[in-house]
Amino acid sequence: MNTLSAEVTERPHAVVLLVDDQKTVHIALKKLLAPANDIQLHCCKEANQAVEMAEQLKPTVILQDINMPDINGLDLLHQYRSHPAISDVPVLMLSGSDTVEIKVDAFRHGADDYMVKMPHQLELLARLRHHSKAYIEHQERQLALQQLQQEKQKLAQAYKELERLASVDGLTDIPNRRHFDLIFSKEWSRAMRETESLSLLMIDIDCFKQYNDSYGHLAGDECLKLVAFSLHQQLQRPTDLAARYGGEEFVILLPGTHARGAIKVAERMRKEILALQLPHENSTADDLVTVSIGAATVSPMLKHKPSELLHSADNALYEAKRSGRNQVICAGI
Ligand code: GH3
Ligand code: MG
Ligand code: MG
Repeated sequence: MNTLSAEVTERPHAVVLLVDDQKTVHIALKKLLAPANDIQLHCCKEANQAVEMAEQLKPTVILQDINMPDINGLDLLHQYRSHPAISDVPVLMLSGSDTVEIKVDAFRHGADDYMVKMPHQLELLARLRHHSKAYIEHQERQLALQQLQQEKQKLAQAYKELERLASVDGLTDIPNRRHFDLIFSKEWSRAMRETESLSLLMIDIDCFKQYNDSYGHLAGDECLKLVAFSLHQQLQRPTDLAARYGGEEFVILLPGTHARGAIKVAERMRKEILALQLPHENSTADDLVTVSIGAATVSPMLKHKPSELLHSADNALYEAKRSGRNQVICAGI
């Protein structure tokens, strides 16, 4: 077995585009490459068809004649480089000249290799295979990188969705208690820094156990959704927050809002829930669904704790329940 036949089975597969105006060069190269059936040779005689042909053929190497009648081979090289589909294809310059300056100039223009016509068969095969392999590996790396980036993007989207799901209440679709805790802590710090008031409303549906008992648990769920939506709809400032605190209890955070403002918001919310006109025949407060609201305000200082504001609003809510429900009670801290 001679050296050449051993190379015949070698991978990777090379697709070579020869761009040369001389038919004799085509014939000579065809002969040189004929024994290597892992190399496919395509010939182009017309310089003005070279780019289009390369685009369609997707060669793994371009063998480019440096001197052509219509165009300088180096100008053609620039055309390949500026074409996105073929810009990375290795270009091996073929020249009749062995002059160092011409060789250096070709590399300066971006050529990947340079050979003097006619090259030795084994050297030509070795160079074509080397450049093809490097190009194919480069393409595979690019593809893997692209896939990795797509996966990364998908993962980032999934993470974002997960974060959203983790902060939203599954039934009512408004923020959940976990999200409230997070924002409450941030707004507390901000109010302290900026010596601003921070108000909080605790809202509880009146006689909701009886509502479930009268209309069923599913109707109870629907009622919770409507109440949540209504409360959420009434927020007016971008920093206001309505969250489901648990069961049939909601919490409203009103940053930069003093007690009088908080009572105003609470009264409006109470009236809007009544205006939903959801029948509740077994309520002791009204024959419609109503809410009781406890409001509390603080201008946080170091001596205060966030839990104190929550307790105050809770105590006020308890007071509202005790006083007959469907009302707003305000507490200081
Ligand atoms: P009060 O006026 O004193 O607030 O009385 P209440 O009946 O509303 O309060 P209680 O704490 O006794 O009952 C709350 C009820 O809320 C009991 C529970 O079945 C119901 N509840 C809590 N979470 C849900 C829910 O997700 N869906 C439904 N349908 N009901 C719920
Ligand atoms: Mg309750
Ligand atoms: Mg209740």
